[in-house]
Amino acid sequence: MLDKRWVGAHVSAQGGVANAPLNAAAIGATAFALFTKNQRRWNASPLTAAEIEKFKQNCIEQHFSAAQILPHDSYLINLGHPDPNMLQKSREAFLDEMQRCEQLGLTLLNFHPGSHLREISESLCLRNIADSINLVLEQTTGVTAVLENTAGQGSNLGHRFEQLAEIIEHIEDKSRVGVCLDTCHLFAAGYDLRTNDSVAQVFAEFAQIVGMKYLKGMHLNDCKSAFNSHVDRHDSLGYGAIGKDAFSAIMAHPATVQIPLILETIRPEIWPDEIAWLQSQSS
Ligand SMILES: [Zn+2]
Ligand SMILES: [Zn+2]
Repeated sequence: MLDKRWVGAHVSAQGGVANAPLNAAAIGATAFALFTKNQRRWNASPLTAAEIEKFKQNCIEQHFSAAQILPHDSYLINLGHPDPNMLQKSREAFLDEMQRCEQLGLTLLNFHPGSHLREISESLCLRNIADSINLVLEQTTGVTAVLENTAGQGSNLGHRFEQLAEIIEHIEDKSRVGVCLDTCHLFAAGYDLRTNDSVAQVFAEFAQIVGMKYLKGMHLNDCKSAFNSHVDRHDSLGYGAIGKDAFSAIMAHPATVQIPLILETIRPEIWPDEIAWLQSQSS
């Protein structure tokens, strides 16, 4: 089916990455996100050949292609870090994340662009981020670096489409860079999504400033925090300040065909219902 939407959640990989596709299938997902290592640590032991094989086998058995899987990198990585030593550490950790994706046969890696920590200018930070991505793309093959828009909390960049566009402008291989739009972050950053028209307008603005070909995935989250608050607090669909109409409009929009649409909502026990409801809105 050409207009099929791929919907899922950021599932647990506890006990090994091979469990993630099983956890996704168990909630009726047709897409999923995962961490390929502990997201709160710098180092991880390498994936073993057996783990890699089991992951690939489980993905095939549960009918997940690489295009339906959106891994997320560690929260510690800051590819725009003002300190050269920390920047280097982040680049090494990001390379390791990309290589883990390569080994697992994955084609996307979702990450937060970076933060200037009020120590360097916004434009220098954006340039550091682009340089970091270029360095890592040169050393890997087959994996696209997927920038996630942010809520603009603290000094996190990537909360304006113009900032994402500026990073992409400096990427040498534009075939391997993309964007994941998180609805909670959009709303908290001042992009209204509460009506059909506002959703259409946000996609149109993204198309104009960044380009629709760069949209590689979405995080579907309602938002506990207020519009334009720059505070990142996810909520279950329909329980937050965005409301369910936004998600109906997003599921019916042509931009969301054949990209992973991932819930990071706060009550995993209702993910099966949220996934089923989202799928019902797409046709
Ligand atoms: Zn994220
Ligand atoms: Zn968030």
